Amino acid sequence: CGIVAYVGQKQACPIIINGLKRLEYRGYDSAGVALYKDGVIDVTKSKGKVALLQEALEGKDTNATVGIGHTRWATHGEPSTVNAHPHYSGDKKLAIIHNGIIENYASLRQELMARGHKFESKTDTEVLIHLIEDIQANEKVDIVEAVRIALNEVVGAYAIVVLSKDNPDMLIAAKKGSPLVVGIGEQGDFYLASDATPIIDYTKNVVYLEEEEIAVASLKDGLSIKTIKNQQKTPYVQKLEME
Ligand code: GLU
Repeated sequence: CGIVAYVGQKQACPIIINGLKRLEYRGYDSAGVALYKDGVIDVTKSKGKVALLQEALEGKDTNATVGIGHTRWATHGEPSTVNAHPHYSGDKKLAIIHNGIIENYASLRQELMARGHKFESKTDTEVLIHLIEDIQANEKVDIVEAVRIALNEVVGAYAIVVLSKDNPDMLIAAKKGSPLVVGIGEQGDFYLASDATPIIDYTKNVVYLEEEEIAVASLKDGLSIKTIKNQQKTPYVQKLEME
């Protein structure tokens, strides 16, 4: 339902929480955040309001400069803390947030279970991150290529952001059928969201992803975009005009 993510030099957690609050008008049943720090991706989730997620975060060390957050409107799997996003890969090296529906998740889930994957939730989303993990392990490709291959196996609609523990200086996003906006910060940092409202306070420079595009927002290499068919694209930067 709602996506907010950040990679840069600032504290990610308040940017994400404030952004999720901006998206509350869309309605949702649960919320969660994944923060990367010191070689670990730490996920905190809560059924109900973003305020309850904030309570769950109290007392935790949220000092992190990269993270992803989500408000969920359940389509597959009841509204619950365990079904809330972000979802981990099996080895907890990857975390994902997702808007939309992976229509062929049941058959993918069966195949992945037959290969030893264990699922914590009943969501279609968790299947997608295990699929990415599986492809990365078996085909010995990097994380961006694994996301690209996985999206070619997926039927349905998605806006996703993936956080990788081995690549904590970047976020990978993609979209088909659900919107995703990339805000380009003044210090080469990046704000990702399902609409511009969480971004507008920080930057007016945005790129709206187009259908079947994958964006890599990297602190080292900047923003690069390609399609899931591996066609390189030139990011089209627009100026936000709303106040
Ligand atoms: N289909 C996903 C789920 O049920 C995402 C729902 C959403 O867009 O929030 O978890």
